[in-house]
Amino acid sequence: MTADTRIHADQVDAATNELDKKRKTRLNKLQKRLRREVGQAIEAFNMIEAGDKVMVCLSGGKDSYAMLDILLNLQKSAPVDFELVAVNLDQKQPGFPEHVLPEYLASIGVPYHIVERDTYSIVKEVVPEGKTTCALCSRLRRGTLYGFADEIGANKIALGHHRDDILETFFLNMFYGGKLKSMPPKLVSDDGKNMVIRPLAYAREKDIAEYAELKQFPIIPCNLCGSQENLQRQVIKEMLQGWDKTNPGRIETMFRALCNVVPSHLADTALFDFKSLQLGFPHGIADPAALAGFRAESDEESSSGNGGVQTMERIDILSL
Ligand code: SF4
Repeated sequence: MTADTRIHADQVDAATNELDKKRKTRLNKLQKRLRREVGQAIEAFNMIEAGDKVMVCLSGGKDSYAMLDILLNLQKSAPVDFELVAVNLDQKQPGFPEHVLPEYLASIGVPYHIVERDTYSIVKEVVPEGKTTCALCSRLRRGTLYGFADEIGANKIALGHHRDDILETFFLNMFYGGKLKSMPPKLVSDDGKNMVIRPLAYAREKDIAEYAELKQFPIIPCNLCGSQENLQRQVIKEMLQGWDKTNPGRIETMFRALCNVVPSHLADTALFDFKSLQLGFPHGIADPAALAGFRAESDEESSSGNGGVQTMERIDILSL
């Protein structure tokens, strides 16, 4: 090796080391942030308690990998003992790389199950050609996973939806369904048998995507079935991403709004007893219990640290 070649090789090594150092620093930073956000969500919604057996649903996408990774990480330092079991539903889509998840899960030493159920054939049979299949596919997946949670005695089912999924669902329901509702971070299934939790509820999709890339999770795409992503969801996603570029901070503000609902200043008569409003009482309600969920002006002040513009907007709305 000539002196020139050695100098060049040393420079390449130094540049590679510098890059590795930067990646490591970024990875640590993201991991800390995701740990903090997942920890806050778990606490705020009392998602995980001592003795829980949590079935972590793994699709092979970035979100579920990140969820499992962060939950395993938190489990090590959590003040309470709980169990984590990873579960993947192999829906028999053509081209699904069956070996990827078992290999990954075995490599990290987490208990896991692969459930095989050919929902792909059912969906193809039932949904007319050209129509989007995701709704039925998700319903069948959900039903199978809920049933499997009972079989293995898991009392919680963790899904990898994040803050941006929650916001997208909120706008989808508002724009196309005429409802003010989203995906809750915690809910009981319709039959009352399963408790679903979404530990990534406070986490941003772009952080998760970057984390997944830095961790080099073996991602399996969710379009092996050839279905298009729901067009309406795609439109909403693009709208939100556009806002994020043109109005930085708006996404955060909107998500805070979902966590800060004022039923007395909406118009749902089932949610707030407008008929019983009376003069002479604070907020027009004689029974203090009826004020549950109502945020007084003092809440306004305590949240004013979130930005003057937001406070002004809320004051304007409240004074209408
Ligand atoms: S893209 Fe395919 S596998 Fe994914 S939810 Fe839709 S139908 Fe199911």
